[in-house]
Amino acid sequence: MFKKSYKKNNNENNFVDVEAWEPKTKIGKMVKDKTITSIEQIFNMGKHIEEIEIIDVLLPNLKNEVIDISSVQRMTKNNRKQKFKITVIVGDSNGHVGVGAAKDVEVKKAIDNAIRNAKLNIIPVVMGCGSWQCTCGLPHSLPFNVSGKCGSVVVTLKPAPRGLGIVASKPVKKMLELAGVQDIWSFSKGRTRSKHNTLLAVQDALESTIRMKNLSYKDIEYKSEMNSPQVEDVKSDA
Ligand SMILES: [Zn+2]
Repeated sequence: MFKKSYKKNNNENNFVDVEAWEPKTKIGKMVKDKTITSIEQIFNMGKHIEEIEIIDVLLPNLKNEVIDISSVQRMTKNNRKQKFKITVIVGDSNGHVGVGAAKDVEVKKAIDNAIRNAKLNIIPVVMGCGSWQCTCGLPHSLPFNVSGKCGSVVVTLKPAPRGLGIVASKPVKKMLELAGVQDIWSFSKGRTRSKHNTLLAVQDALESTIRMKNLSYKDIEYKSEMNSPQVEDVKSDA
């Protein structure tokens, strides 16, 4: 019953008042004074993002989708405590995606915290056309086969030709859509009933696109960020 009412959640209440924001971290300050203008610059510096406002400023077009709501019960001495565990995906359908989970006695609170965690877990994805049946060279798929794991779950993603679409289970499909991948085959092994673990395995697989290509984040070409400044500008100030 919760799934229905919470299924589509766009980022409309995500407005950041940049003027009022008082950054607590060095990275946050650099984002506020516009020394940093893209999230790739932060990834490139190898820094961890600790303030949600950084994500909201640099990736204003994130959408989120609630993937799983389950209730967890715990017996205490006097009563039974029920909590909701929520798994959420956030992404901009343009090379940035993250998974997050949270538990709370209130569904709304659990969703808000899961969204927060998903944002702080955002990773970049390198797109490409790695299908041997398709040599279009456009970034509609992934550049090569990748695998990722979490717990017992192993997910393998294989580039597919243009127009094929996403062949995957529902939650995996949603995650690939929010990452911006259009054509792909997905294969999973292990205990895939755990949607959270499955999505973390997908995240691990997507993350390896950058590890395997041995790219620097600034080498990634994004559809909307073609003219983002080079990261050297930041390093010299750091
Ligand atoms: Zn292609």
